[in-house]
Amino acid sequence: MNLESSKKLFNKARGLLAGGVCSPVRAISPHPFYTARAEGPYLWDEDGNRFIDYCLAYGPMILGHRNPIIVEAINEQLRKGWLYGTPTELEVKLAERITRLYPSINLLRFVSTGTEATMAAIRVARGGSGRDKVIKIEGGFHGAHDSVLVKAGSGATTLGIPDSKGVPIDTAKNTLQVPYNDLDALEKVLRSFPGEIAAMIMEPVLGNLGPILPREGYLNGVRDLTEEHDVLLIFDEVITGFRLSLGGAQQYYGVKPDLTTLGKIIGGGFPIGVFGGRRDLMEQVAPDGGIYQAGTFNGSPMSLAAGLSTLDVLERVDVLQKLNSTSEEMRRAMREIIEDMGLGYSVVGIASMFKVFFGPEPTDYFESLRCDKVGYLEFFHRMLESGIFLTPSQYETDFLSISHSSDVIEATLEAFKLNLKS
Ligand SMILES: *Cc1c(COP(=O)(O)O)cnc(C)c1O
Repeated sequence: MNLESSKKLFNKARGLLAGGVCSPVRAISPHPFYTARAEGPYLWDEDGNRFIDYCLAYGPMILGHRNPIIVEAINEQLRKGWLYGTPTELEVKLAERITRLYPSINLLRFVSTGTEATMAAIRVARGGSGRDKVIKIEGGFHGAHDSVLVKAGSGATTLGIPDSKGVPIDTAKNTLQVPYNDLDALEKVLRSFPGEIAAMIMEPVLGNLGPILPREGYLNGVRDLTEEHDVLLIFDEVITGFRLSLGGAQQYYGVKPDLTTLGKIIGGGFPIGVFGGRRDLMEQVAPDGGIYQAGTFNGSPMSLAAGLSTLDVLERVDVLQKLNSTSEEMRRAMREIIEDMGLGYSVVGIASMFKVFFGPEPTDYFESLRCDKVGYLEFFHRMLESGIFLTPSQYETDFLSISHSSDVIEATLEAFKLNLKS
């Protein structure tokens, strides 16, 4: 495979961009490929190589690349202008559709990224409760801001420590961590800090660690415990929203959070974030209340237009169901191949999310660390050589889109069989 152009670009980028890239996960060693264009399930790089894309920009591209309906919506919006600094009808329309699909969301606000959404949701929880501490799940990801760039201290009830240089210890100590799928650990933390915890924030399905799925009854247990201890529950559905079902994981599992964050899919591939939830909490956001949040690009017309059209497609009869059953078939075929080869790997997934774990299926962060991540990385490179772009880490979820047709999946399975073992 000729990768000369990408190699040259990366060498130049290293002298210009921090780490050579715009986001750390893109820094594939020895150098990433540089995408020149995309269409449907495919990416083409600067050297003309074509890849079947299972990264899908880490989640947003559920319709595949350049879906004609999005192209049309964006072209139309371009003709009308793309940033006004005033309200638009688009934001009313999209808010109406989101609140209809998410009964837990009475009021919401559009922001530009998932990171902003979780930052604001945590601020709302703190402002609304008058408390500072938050609980997050070990290995859960909520974007790159101070309150969530925190790792667990030793022992379940100790205070968090910064997971990045530059995060103040005074901020990190307000973030407590609990292992996923462990209600006892959660209860212990809730009991240890009575009256001090504003909220628990969590991805209902750990999308940034695999995925890792909730045990039967776990999410209901979290809801019961948080309610019992008067702690707000924030579901970060930036990945699971509009994917597990139109109403997200909260609809799929039947659990009602107090606050929700959305992003990725609902921007149709354009930058977006949403935070929203209980009326009594969201009413406290400025200008009505004293919890401040603002943004030049909040409710960007391009993102809203793309989001509305994405919903148009996803709400068509059977679209999500068909995508999910196609994904399940692919996962089943992968499991069969693994079994035939006598490898102790697992294929974990739900809806259109999947991951090949080089080890048994993990149920939390600690277990996920036991996977052979070096083996996975080698497999990733062999797949890339075969024209299949999986996410480059053992701990990132792969996605399917509605543009991944049966022949695309067949080609993927053939490469899978060929490349699983070195
Ligand atoms: C991607 C992601 C975020 C951050 O969203 P950005 O748009 O990248 O800022 C937050 N939470 C979850 C669960 C995510 O997957």
